[in-house]
Amino acid sequence: MFATLSDRLADTFKNLRGKGRLSEADIDATAREIRVALLEADVALPVVKEFVGAVKERARGVEVSQALNPAQQIIKIVNDELVTILGGETRRLRFAKNPPTVIMLAGLQGSGKTTLAAKLALWLKEQGSSPLLVAADLQRPNAVNQLQVNGERAGVKVYAPEPGNGVGDPVAVARGGVEEARRTLHDVVIVDTAGRLGVDAEMMQQARDIRDAVTPDEVLFVVDAMIGQDAVNTAQAFLDGVGYDGVVLTKLDGDARGGAALSVASITGKPVMFASAGEKLTDFDLFHPDRMAGRILDMGDMLTLIEQAEKTFDQEQAAKAAAKLTGQGGDFTLTDFMEQMQQIRKMGSLSKIMGMLPGMGQFRDQLDNFDEREIDRIQAIIQSMTPAERENPKIIDGSRRQRISKGSGTQVSDVNTLVDRFFEARKMMMSMAKGGGIPGMPGMPG
Ligand code: GDP
Repeated sequence: MFATLSDRLADTFKNLRGKGRLSEADIDATAREIRVALLEADVALPVVKEFVGAVKERARGVEVSQALNPAQQIIKIVNDELVTILGGETRRLRFAKNPPTVIMLAGLQGSGKTTLAAKLALWLKEQGSSPLLVAADLQRPNAVNQLQVNGERAGVKVYAPEPGNGVGDPVAVARGGVEEARRTLHDVVIVDTAGRLGVDAEMMQQARDIRDAVTPDEVLFVVDAMIGQDAVNTAQAFLDGVGYDGVVLTKLDGDARGGAALSVASITGKPVMFASAGEKLTDFDLFHPDRMAGRILDMGDMLTLIEQAEKTFDQEQAAKAAAKLTGQGGDFTLTDFMEQMQQIRKMGSLSKIMGMLPGMGQFRDQLDNFDEREIDRIQAIIQSMTPAERENPKIIDGSRRQRISKGSGTQVSDVNTLVDRFFEARKMMMSMAKGGGIPGMPGMPG
């Protein structure tokens, strides 16, 4: 996701490292590099111009700061400006005072609308809502069926026209769906509408008719982040043709550039509300401009990580480990290490999780190639140790190493590496737990 932009900006900031203060020439050079980085990432030209202008102006005005060095100040400015172009504050769904809340989806065919409808429904269901999906995309062959299949996977009811009269009237289906929701006490209705491969007048008219028939509380424009500059044009066409309240970016997993998607909010003045980054129904979440900016700048995405951790972590176990790491409740042992690893694994693939940590951008290649079986090997090694060894790895001498490596089917050097890494990791985790933060992080506010 936005890897090109991340890498280029990281290079730019690297050039500023070690500078005591920024000269006019430094600022100009930096602004030029940021401009190239944004253009290469496919950010729309007007957005680039405004962005670079703002960064330049603010960079000139910065006070000599005790807390931040010049490179950090520029990073902070770029971060703020990124948050701004992404729409500022997180925009949450507005629910109707009198349910059902009607959400209408619009966008081109293939933008990921039908998939998104199910993702949104599942997400709402997890938040405690009882959504109803309405299949009003009668244009694309199979769209109704696809929504039904996805709805079933999400465990959400789908309102669809009777099979047989496939041509049907999408406006009537949409209206019928909302009535059905009212009758059966669903509190949210998600109306999937037809898309075309390109923007055309008939399609816009149909979307307008559906909009007028169901008076949605939120119209969401769904756009594929991979379509490049067309995203901006399409977004504008839909804004003029149908109008919408927010944008949903899909297929963020697919594009290393994705800058066009970054421009949509800025150009249309409509916030990005959700992001979809994968084919699984759970690859979906609220879009947080500040977190996305943090991710692009490789400051990590600690908030998302923490939220995921909160969802999956065994609180009691985590508290126990934290106590040990801060020097209360005994030593943090290999047993704890393994438990933590298993917890982390529940959150998803390790490379995805590591990618959310600050400063990991430079290791992207290694992360992408990370062999998840490595974890199995580590577990096998720890399991081949005696309880005493796990509690106090210092006692693991040469002959114990031999025995452990045999028992786990690994090399003696693997056992060495694991033990060394454990001590290193423990040291790092202890300093993190004590400092309440991540070592080596620039002193960034916010
Ligand atoms: P619609 O025509 O707008 O309803 O689009 P679909 O929901 O049918 O999606 C088109 C294709 O994109 C399907 O093959 C989906 O599996 C795929 N797709 C949808 N969302 C994502 C996403 O976030 N990431 C990836 N990689 N593929 C997606």
